[in-house]
Amino acid sequence: MKGINRLFGLLLLALPLAAQAGLPASSSVPGGVAVIPLGGDAKKDPAPEAWFGKHRVLVAPDHGEWYAVVGVPLDTKPGEQQLQVSTGGASRSLPFDVGPKAYPEQHITLKSKRKVDLSPRDLKRALKEIAQIKALKLHWRDAPRTDLDFIEPVDGQMGSAFGLRRFFNGEARSPHSGIDLVVPSDTPVKAAGKGQVLAVGDYFFNGKTVFVDHGDGLITMYCHLSHIEVKPGEKVGKGQEIARSGMTGRATGPHLHWSVVLNGAMVDPALFLPGQKYARQ
Ligand code: ZN
Repeated sequence: MKGINRLFGLLLLALPLAAQAGLPASSSVPGGVAVIPLGGDAKKDPAPEAWFGKHRVLVAPDHGEWYAVVGVPLDTKPGEQQLQVSTGGASRSLPFDVGPKAYPEQHITLKSKRKVDLSPRDLKRALKEIAQIKALKLHWRDAPRTDLDFIEPVDGQMGSAFGLRRFFNGEARSPHSGIDLVVPSDTPVKAAGKGQVLAVGDYFFNGKTVFVDHGDGLITMYCHLSHIEVKPGEKVGKGQEIARSGMTGRATGPHLHWSVVLNGAMVDPALFLPGQKYARQ
């Protein structure tokens, strides 16, 4: 028994900071999640409020202390950043460092020009949808105990990783804002965590999509679905089937595109999975 405890202790030591139960792994880089201790006694003191730029940030207790769990946007310049923290009416600025991260590049040739050079009609539709999606990503719902411990929505092979810098027919596009899990069409897609369906839609680029709001600015997106099985406002449990995978929208083959949004920033979903499966250091 003693040996097992010792082994367990060693395993805990081997885990990165903040693989402490419940919180995602801290990775303070563009597209990562910075887990910042805020102090205070989480058993007695009310949760501090925190903002990164204009965006309210998720604050969660862990081992009796408060932490800010900050989504770092992909376009953040490495260097010192400031978190604004408000505790019982007193505000302070808390500096934290964002390190550099070089994501790989991928060059893709698409045969269908329609998906690269949009017609005025498609462009109008896509721009309207981008604005709608942007607003959904900024949604905030207070949740006393946000579920930060995710499961994989499908058990698939990793296709494109998060942050991949893509070029379609030689033109730079926005970096990959989620992970692609390659599964056959009509594979059941499960909610990564407990939450509430924020919206469903059928978009030019993302295809049929479900947004699940986990509370406190944490939102997951499931794209290119063949079939959606939930409605906005519906509560979903972790692991509940919400849709079937497919290749609707702009997809070169059947897969699930899964994104995690935190305080409006697209962050690496792999950071929320046990053992950081799929995470690339
Ligand atoms: Zn994708």
